Amino acid sequence: MVLPNKDVPFTGPSGITLHRFTPHKSASALTAKFRDGRIGLPADLRGGFASDGFQEIQPWLQEHCQPRRRPVRSSYMGDLYTCPRKFMWRVRYGLKVRGWMDPALHTGTFFHEMLRAVLTGSTIAEATSECDHLCQQCCSQLEAECDRNGMLPSGKPLEDSRQKCVNASALAKMMFELSVHPFLFSKMMEPYEVLTVEAPIEVKYRGIWAPIRCKPDALLMHRETGDVLVVNHKTTGERNTSTVCRSYPWALQPQLEHLCVRTVFPDAPNFRYLHNIMRKCSLRYPSKNSPTWEAYLENARAWYLKEGERDPANQPMLQSLFLLPSHPMTAELHVQLYEASRACYCDSIDTAKYPKNAASCFAFHKPCPFLSLCESTPGLWPRIIEERFEQVFREDEEDEAAADAPESEA
Ligand code: SF4
Repeated sequence: MVLPNKDVPFTGPSGITLHRFTPHKSASALTAKFRDGRIGLPADLRGGFASDGFQEIQPWLQEHCQPRRRPVRSSYMGDLYTCPRKFMWRVRYGLKVRGWMDPALHTGTFFHEMLRAVLTGSTIAEATSECDHLCQQCCSQLEAECDRNGMLPSGKPLEDSRQKCVNASALAKMMFELSVHPFLFSKMMEPYEVLTVEAPIEVKYRGIWAPIRCKPDALLMHRETGDVLVVNHKTTGERNTSTVCRSYPWALQPQLEHLCVRTVFPDAPNFRYLHNIMRKCSLRYPSKNSPTWEAYLENARAWYLKEGERDPANQPMLQSLFLLPSHPMTAELHVQLYEASRACYCDSIDTAKYPKNAASCFAFHKPCPFLSLCESTPGLWPRIIEERFEQVFREDEEDEAAADAPESEA
């Protein structure tokens, strides 16, 4: 039997053509060499396992990209469950693609920034101008990262990313203007006073190696009863908002926030959790139907009303309030935290401890930011990391912001 030429698409008797896909060429050539033992440790020194070459670049990583011990956070645990290798890159090495623009992430950041501003005493107009300022900052950062061909290290054109940033800011401002009154100034909120706004809380829990850290959007206290209310805002593209609310009480974020807040306020009689969800509207500004900001607000208002009527069970603006249990730690959570703290705190890092999960590489139809590293062999990582990534540790930014904040906010 004659096998078809491997470089030419093969058409069988059915008439359907079989096309071929070659993964990252240089990477697959190097991988073959590692597999054959031509690069890396000889097999007898590796205990019979094929080396992926990670040990060989350890000295470079130690010198140029030192990993850190990190506290346990719900988002880090989310990364660990989604893909341990992503956890290794993002959490332990603190890697972030320079000039990475994710519209979904930026919309949420802008929206939270405005809510934070209003809760710390700014007017609505001041809050929206803070959003404009933040958007300008993001655009300037993108410009600083782009090369002379107008391309960002993420491989995206600058203009495209800048436009997405501006769109995300317009969307966030509209969502904020339509939701700020129902979310923050409703009758339910009147008896509460604001204790903290986006203040990080870090606690140690017995049996858990690493500290546990969270940053609730706001903590409020009932003026008469002393009950504590943990507030969390979410912007989502998900249509089924009620299903998001349904499983949220046992999500890691409220559980960890509960654990931290109860440690800080041990005498509060009750703890409640307020989860505010706002669906992202599909209308954009400016557009043919929304040439002015007023027209955009009006059209968006009509969109939210129509979506609510179309599917009354899944309102696009939804608030859920639930009482937190009297003891925050369950056996299930303890096991999860124990495992996560080992992953966050262990001293030696090895790819074998943080395996890849191929099922997550294109989650939500978007490529993972670490794809360029995962599809290459470790021998290529120093060049890729230098060209595309920077090291950012979220706790450094939070501690810096907390140190700059006025004392009443901390
Ligand atoms: S590219 Fe895939 S395997 Fe690599 S970190 Fe991302 S999700 Fe994990």
